[in-house]
Amino acid sequence: MEARKFTGNFTQQEPIPEDAIAAAVEVMRSGRLHRYNAVPGEVPEAALLEREYADWQGAGFCLATASGGTALQIALRAAGVGPGDRVLTNAFTLAPVPGAIHGVGAEPVLVEITGDLVIDLDDLATKARASGAQVLMLSLMRGHMPDMDRVMQVATDCGLTVIEDCAHTMGARWNGRLSGSFGAAGCFSTQTYKHINSGEGGFLVSEDAEIMARAIVMSGSYMLYDRHGAAPGPEAFAEIRYQVPNLSARMDNLRAAMLRPQLRRLDENIARWNRRCGALEEVLRACPVLRLPDRPAGALRVGSSIQFRLPGIDADGAGRFLSACAGRGVELKWFGGAEPAGYTSSHHSWRYMRAQSLPRTDAILAELFDMRIPLTFSVDDCRLIGAIIAEEASALTESAN
Ligand SMILES: *Cc1c(COP(=O)(O)O)cnc(C)c1O
Repeated sequence: MEARKFTGNFTQQEPIPEDAIAAAVEVMRSGRLHRYNAVPGEVPEAALLEREYADWQGAGFCLATASGGTALQIALRAAGVGPGDRVLTNAFTLAPVPGAIHGVGAEPVLVEITGDLVIDLDDLATKARASGAQVLMLSLMRGHMPDMDRVMQVATDCGLTVIEDCAHTMGARWNGRLSGSFGAAGCFSTQTYKHINSGEGGFLVSEDAEIMARAIVMSGSYMLYDRHGAAPGPEAFAEIRYQVPNLSARMDNLRAAMLRPQLRRLDENIARWNRRCGALEEVLRACPVLRLPDRPAGALRVGSSIQFRLPGIDADGAGRFLSACAGRGVELKWFGGAEPAGYTSSHHSWRYMRAQSLPRTDAILAELFDMRIPLTFSVDDCRLIGAIIAEEASALTESAN
């Protein structure tokens, strides 16, 4: 029997919904693309989006930004991080996270992860004390949530301010509470491969009026901070407006117009992702040679991607597994490669920072495979992809024995 193949495209997202296209066209017709360009009585799309995202997220304040990465940098600076400071972050993350820390002149201190792909809290406590860092940028990489109550307890014990990188956790929850609402600030991305799509874009949410006032001025508000949708009152800006530089990282009305209708569909899309990811997981969990991360009981993930390990695999085996899957139309990424490829770089290739030793993380990444789940895949597509992965993983293990 001929081996079954998958023929879908792994980087094909769904189209922008028609009502979002219409809203974007409307902005273009008006010519008022800049977020502060409004006629009297008009509330621009960017401000409306900030209000709606703050409401959806249950956040006091929200700033829309040019990207997730700029939201991270702004959050760090607004929380007081400056040149020479150390910032803790988990070593399993994507390049924009150490990049944001480096971008504000600070030094990343990388923390080990566990086999369940979340930050190792013992290593966090050790490195917090040893490094003198006062900030943890917690990257909720690929949507895997650690026990957030314990994270916040360690942060309190070690005097750490927490900034959450929620690029993969828009809509994820810990014990019912939304990711991004635990730390001093939560940062989101609306880049094409995240949960809502404006090409580029991001959000910063916070309950802290001072952090938000600094963030808004930094984002490039000139003195137009009263035209924001979910900002603190003018008193919060009284001093800050003289002290904070303009870094020009605003979102424009065009992107905001595209995002507002998508936000209204986000809950529905989260359910669609979880049906797809659930179908894939079911097949993969039944395959004895694969190991999937366990989720703590309180974690509600958004299954926009899937990760699994092939314990004991070496570089040669990983290469053969990747090409066997690719030969059947399943494009996997591997986090164990010596060279950065696509989005899968590791700390070994972030050579702008001090080299750090992370033996446990390295051992996990060497076995770790990754796949995004675009919503253009059906639930049946996901079952087929799961079957292909399971068959090729089993064949590989058999040939090794
Ligand atoms: C995408 C991403 C970011 C940054 O988002 P951009 O909008 O691309 O700048 C940050 N952290 C993680 C883990 C990401 O995947």
